Amino acid sequence: MLVFFAAWVGSNQGWGYFYYHHPKTAEVTMQFFFLFTLSAVLLIQAVFIQRKKEQQKLTTMLEQKVEERTYELERAKHEALALSVTDHLTQLYNRRGFFEKVNQQFAKYHDAQCTCSLLLLDLDQFKAINDKFGHATGDEVIRTTAHKLIQHSRASDIAGRIGGEEFVLFLPMANNHTAFVIAEKIRADIEQQDIIADNKHVKFTVSIGVSTLQPNDQHIESMLKRADKALYQAKNQGRNQAQCS
Ligand code: GH3
Ligand code: MG
Ligand code: MG
Repeated sequence: MLVFFAAWVGSNQGWGYFYYHHPKTAEVTMQFFFLFTLSAVLLIQAVFIQRKKEQQKLTTMLEQKVEERTYELERAKHEALALSVTDHLTQLYNRRGFFEKVNQQFAKYHDAQCTCSLLLLDLDQFKAINDKFGHATGDEVIRTTAHKLIQHSRASDIAGRIGGEEFVLFLPMANNHTAFVIAEKIRADIEQQDIIADNKHVKFTVSIGVSTLQPNDQHIESMLKRADKALYQAKNQGRNQAQCS
């Protein structure tokens, strides 16, 4: 602006670049020159603004894409994590998932000196079912048992399949008597079940070991050991029964 003003004053006063080169039309030439310069500046500015807008659009698009990918990765991570703790056949917790989940709660019950119990279930003569009716029927028996376990558990209970035909049910706030009653209900219900294979009714039973938290239990494994002992007793005393340790 200052240069334009000086040139304009100069052209009017009879000095400066425009006056010396175009004495007759100094002012008009000067105006054309500045008009041309201004147009060029405005054009360059418009190009820059357009490029900036395009860059912003591109940045927004990229940010959106990154956000979408992050969300997808996060979801895939969650799914993978859920799969790593879930038993594919029954959708119960698998061994890892069960112990992870129970260990989070075990300290809470132990420290608050609250009671809790554990059922360890094992299908009776399951190998014979597989041998007689096939693996697919065996799988169906496993799924049905898991379903019964869920049917008899409360929202706060934690159910898992920790071995081929071995299940666990962690019962928060359940004393030994309550746990035994629940175990008996599950056992009796399973005894009533049958599944159809090759047009035959396949019956199956389960033995259950029951244990309850004791003051010097430091880990869930201590309860599991006692439940295993009780299960062994149940098997030895004829199967299809629940025993307490
Ligand atoms: P017990 O009453 O003493 O428990 O006898 P059992 O036959 O149930 O016990 P055993 O340990 O001898 O056999 C367990 C069988 O479970 C053997 C194995 O082939 C079968 N098994 C393990 N996992 C699966 C599975 O995912 N599907 C099927 N169909 N069978 C399985
Ligand atoms: Mg077993
Ligand atoms: Mg068995």
